[in-house]
Amino acid sequence: MDDDKPDRSDPPLNGWKEIAAYLGKSVRSVQRWEASLGLPVHRIRTPDGHIVYGDRAEIDAWRRQLDAPPVPEPEDPLDPESLPETDPPPPPVPRPAPPRVPRAWLVGFAVACLTLFLSGLALGSWLARPSPLATDVVLTGRFLQGVNPVGAVAWSHEFDGDVSGVGPRPLLVDVDGDEQAEWLIGVHYQARGSQAATSDGLYCITQDGRRKWVVRPDQNLTYPDRTMSAPWVMTNFTLSPGKPRTLWVSYAHHTGGSSFVLAVSSSGTPELRYVQFGRIYALEHWSTPSGGVLAVGGASDEHKRATLALLPDTDPPSSYPIDDPRRATCRECPRHTPRRVFLFPESELTVANHELHPYVVNITTVGPALKAAISQGGGRSQVFLSPDFTINFFDFTQNYWGAHKSLEAKGRLDHPAEDCPDRRATQLIREWTADEGWKRWAITPGGKSGPARLLADDEGM
Ligand SMILES: [Zn+2]
Repeated sequence: MDDDKPDRSDPPLNGWKEIAAYLGKSVRSVQRWEASLGLPVHRIRTPDGHIVYGDRAEIDAWRRQLDAPPVPEPEDPLDPESLPETDPPPPPVPRPAPPRVPRAWLVGFAVACLTLFLSGLALGSWLARPSPLATDVVLTGRFLQGVNPVGAVAWSHEFDGDVSGVGPRPLLVDVDGDEQAEWLIGVHYQARGSQAATSDGLYCITQDGRRKWVVRPDQNLTYPDRTMSAPWVMTNFTLSPGKPRTLWVSYAHHTGGSSFVLAVSSSGTPELRYVQFGRIYALEHWSTPSGGVLAVGGASDEHKRATLALLPDTDPPSSYPIDDPRRATCRECPRHTPRRVFLFPESELTVANHELHPYVVNITTVGPALKAAISQGGGRSQVFLSPDFTINFFDFTQNYWGAHKSLEAKGRLDHPAEDCPDRRATQLIREWTADEGWKRWAITPGGKSGPARLLADDEGM
């Protein structure tokens, strides 16, 4: 027992919220810290689930142990910056180490904590029964836990083995249009011994913990020389607007190679909608004047370029256009091609950083426009498309030049970022349309000479 530690006069921290407030972090952060950094947290089993509490002295000791050197915020396994396939991007806020808190601030903090504690007491009778509705979900060890607004575990699912999150962060949305929100959660099952790993699952779970459906593809892609089959790795998912919603989930083969997109109905029925030779990282549904379009971003392994495919909702299933006539498509690959495909410029950063090729890492809508972020060599460039699908802007971002400088410092680039010829050079973007095949566009970075200009066939680049 703890009887040999008499100084336990401080009240415990009740629930995730108080633990989070004590550490000055979000609930999600401290839950991650429990899993990744061993933050000491206790649970008492109750008829309604678990009560979570923390001991200040234990947490202080844990923090002291980690404090030298200062602890950076641990990499979030669901963070878009650490996993290129995730979406949406966070604003580029630098992540400070936990601050050394000034004493005056601590006093204010203590008062705030006391206030929180007292308001917690006042609400106590309301919250005596933990709400069964999860407003947060956490994957830890072999459990998926729904956490209610007071930080108590509302429900818990146990898997056969350890699991972790994949795709974007879990979403709480009304999938089927019944005015009740459901959780959409990407789950990766850790391989267990010699047991073959299964494909990642997309779970739809009601807020009170009932599993509505799970999608776990068992897709085969049969090429003349090989068959790609499960396990498939989920890279992203997104939803289109409307009632009910359609979900889109992208999977890549665990060895690389081909990727595909499933359209999933609100009742969980999947349909193969798109196959690409190369990894898919990004999905975004884009509402345009001509209708809804699924934007799919990633890499074309045939072209060694970053690519963006645009698939109108009303088009039939499609496969990426193959240029090389000797390269066969797969037996299951849909025969149609996407309405539009873009291939973005190569980059010296990719070569300098020993990467295979750039890839579209993230797609977002910005007002009526679509923005694709392209990752290369640790930096990013970006392209904007107008709602009529014209290319209206291309530029290198600040972090592109940051990556440029760090590659200079390693001796992998022979010129400074300030004098980089790419700053002024015309960039070539290729576009494939189902009607006209390949076209080439020229655009100057930073919008200096307007939108992209269509190149004639005899204009060499
Ligand atoms: Zn350069």
